[in-house]
Amino acid sequence: MRQRIAVVGAGPGGLAFARVLHRHGHPVTVLERDPGPDARPPGGTLDLHEGLGQLALDKAGLRAEFRASSRPEGQAMRILAPDGTVLRDWRPRPDERAHPEIDRGRLRDLLLGPLDVQWGRGVTRVTPGTPDGAVVHFEDGRQEAFDLVVGADGAWSRVRPAVSPVTPHYTGVTSVETSLDDVDTRHPDLAALIGDGSVAVYGANRSLVAQRNSGGHVKVYAKFRAPLDWHADLDMADAEAVRSALLALFDGWAAPVLDLLRHGAAFVHRPFHVLPVSHTWTHVPGVTLLGDAAHLMPPLGAGANLAMLDGAELAESLATGTGEPDEAVRAFEERMWARAGKWAKITTAGLERLVSPDPAEALAVFDQVQPA
Ligand SMILES: Cc1cc2nc3c(=O)[nH]c(=O)nc-3n(C[C@H](O)[C@H](O)[C@H](O)COP(=O)(O)OP(=O)(O)OC[C@H]3O[C@@H](n4cnc5c(N)ncnc54)[C@H](O)[C@@H]3O)c2cc1C
Repeated sequence: MRQRIAVVGAGPGGLAFARVLHRHGHPVTVLERDPGPDARPPGGTLDLHEGLGQLALDKAGLRAEFRASSRPEGQAMRILAPDGTVLRDWRPRPDERAHPEIDRGRLRDLLLGPLDVQWGRGVTRVTPGTPDGAVVHFEDGRQEAFDLVVGADGAWSRVRPAVSPVTPHYTGVTSVETSLDDVDTRHPDLAALIGDGSVAVYGANRSLVAQRNSGGHVKVYAKFRAPLDWHADLDMADAEAVRSALLALFDGWAAPVLDLLRHGAAFVHRPFHVLPVSHTWTHVPGVTLLGDAAHLMPPLGAGANLAMLDGAELAESLATGTGEPDEAVRAFEERMWARAGKWAKITTAGLERLVSPDPAEALAVFDQVQPA
């Protein structure tokens, strides 16, 4: 009998997993809490690395579609000082394909393709090791058993407690996100400032980053060190109050930079939480984790890439392996832990330097990762 496999979560990791299994003709049940694919705004653009996210798309047979949908020019990066002085202005060569950008919504649609996701199926917990397999418990009180349940349900995973007692902790860095629409027509000066890719401005313990998505949509992130409850006296739904608080925090920065906040619509608070670097667990037959559920780390361009490669690799070894499926899962966990541990160290150190008392640190990080 074929293994009954379920993946909890239709994010980049869960969808890559399901899509690769589907490509190999293996049935998979995809359980997602959101009521539909467009239930939430999809979030900012993602750069997919050649050896990570792009490799996962190869395994899913989607490289050509990715090439057609991605924006190599979106790799452009400009760095400013808080007074508006341009410190770096890096543009990719036309054939530069190391980290092309793709809108999250477009990536999700690519991965979804023919998959039959069960939307609106929030999972509350998983009980491994019952006579019928690993039992998934749903928010509506129902239950269903599988031979393998893969937790790809992100930072606050409900599957994780089945294998690990660890929960995410706050990094001390938070972010407030806003966005601008039709930037080329409505804010041409800001469009020029942002260019084809991103603009980042680094000050002491704070930064402002604006990132172009397709269709003239721009995501703006204000990142700063603060206690988790810094907004205790602020109503985050009151856009004008949040705007004023942010403008006070970035007081003295150049006017065109602050316009990124002045023209933002709604504001969303996203504190950065992480799992411990090199989070592992004792293998539990019938349940595993991948992506943020397994290795949540600072959002410095690796998380979605790693989640996708985790998903694609696990699916490939389950679909093509000749040994016991549980052995394939064990081997996958070892590989994932090694890779994620390396990236967690890089991104943890990166966050310390990108939001640091000395803005020169951020510039040094940029110079290390970007060719001159
Ligand atoms: C501001 C920001 C910028 C980022 N930029 C980048 C970038 O440029 N490049 C990059 O590689 N990474 C980036 N990341 C990180 C990236 O977004 C995550 O690492 C990635 O989304 C993780 O994918 P995932 O599939 O593991 O989890 P998620 O994307 O979190 O998906 C989890 C899915 O599970 C569903 N779910 C949750 N709980 C349940 C439940 N109980 N039952 C059923 N379904 C559930 C959720 O609705 C969701 O659809 C960024 C993150 C942030 C915050």
